[in-house]
Amino acid sequence: MPTLAITGGEVLRPDLSVECADVLVDRGAGEITAVVAPGEADVPDDTFDASGDLVIPGLVNVHTHVAMTLLRGVADDKPLDAWLQEDIWPLEAAMEPADVRAGARLGCLELIRSGTTAFADMYFHVEAIADAVAESGLRAVLGHTAITAGKDADAGAADVQESLDVARRLDGRADGRIRTTVQPHSLTTVDGEALAELAEGARDLGRPLHYHANETADEVAPIVGDEEQRPLSYAADHGALEPGDWIAHGVHLDDEEIKLLAERDVAVAHCPAANMKLASGMAPIQRCLDAGVTVALGTDGPASNNDLDLLGELSDAALLGKLAADDAAAVDAPTALRMATRNGARALGIDAGRIEPGAAADLAVIDRSAAHLSPGHDPVSDLVYAARGSDVRHTICDGEVLMRDREVVALDGSAVRQKARERAAALVERAGD
Ligand SMILES: [Zn+2]
Repeated sequence: MPTLAITGGEVLRPDLSVECADVLVDRGAGEITAVVAPGEADVPDDTFDASGDLVIPGLVNVHTHVAMTLLRGVADDKPLDAWLQEDIWPLEAAMEPADVRAGARLGCLELIRSGTTAFADMYFHVEAIADAVAESGLRAVLGHTAITAGKDADAGAADVQESLDVARRLDGRADGRIRTTVQPHSLTTVDGEALAELAEGARDLGRPLHYHANETADEVAPIVGDEEQRPLSYAADHGALEPGDWIAHGVHLDDEEIKLLAERDVAVAHCPAANMKLASGMAPIQRCLDAGVTVALGTDGPASNNDLDLLGELSDAALLGKLAADDAAAVDAPTALRMATRNGARALGIDAGRIEPGAAADLAVIDRSAAHLSPGHDPVSDLVYAARGSDVRHTICDGEVLMRDREVVALDGSAVRQKARERAAALVERAGD
């Protein structure tokens, strides 16, 4: 029985056509039960009038570090290596679970406000992130990120174990809205033995791997130099490139690696804004798509973006994709939109990203009244090239309303922002001591 309805809106269908329809939802099952012509079915008491609005699948952010909202704006305009070593890692070393909780809450607030309903996160103190996700009502794929570089053997082994433990312990939390991944940080920050152990552990748990790969040229050179093979061939040899896994960035990929991704059904989390900000390079997205690779969209952490607004990321993906291919027809608007919806859901292994009976009731309703969305010739073009997070009016996840008329339901926005400001200031002070 439908218990929630979004009526009278223009609905984005799986083929990216738009039609006026009522969307009916079973809140208990968290599923869309029907998409029908307006007025064709009885609607329940709890009904949104979406007349004049655009109803789209909730957006899927396949690579971020939400707690890094706490580090937003703390250091910018530096290359990746220097940025991590001089600024980010010292601050992260001083982070306590309460900091991660405050940052994750702020991140969840921002995601809901900008129409994202599912995200994949890599970080530490993951219990605190899981608390924020459970509280917010969002869907997430979480994990503890293991690093062995720069650590003694015991500390490295403990980090590997923690990644496996977290993947086992947290999977299925929040009524199943939380799933997990096993996470080597990257192919250069985890040694070969640890990589193989994480991969094997992931297969035993039946959970995928998610890690950074081929983000910068500096990440590729040491593997080519030491191992005499490309990074993704090295990953495959260590059992770390199996169907369902997904890599973040994939900026520096050669044709063989692209072929490997397609053959092995490993998705790429494309993070165009972070790649531009850190001058990491232009990912060969059109080439990946042409080869049959699933490309999905991530914001990366809010310290390298600097926001979690996936609607903004859509235009970055389309624009950078054209520049990389030297072709204005590359990564067109429908392609970019699919990355943030259907492809994202596929990468995360969730049945969402489409408005059809049986799919998860993960939805965002876009207010099309703003000047920058007028006159409204083409809703897909407007979404990709002109819309922004603040155009989202309602957000629904798993059949529950997370934001109604721009009011977030489960999180107290001003308290969340205040707490994050306090924790961020104290963190910077503590790390400076
Ligand atoms: Zn990242």
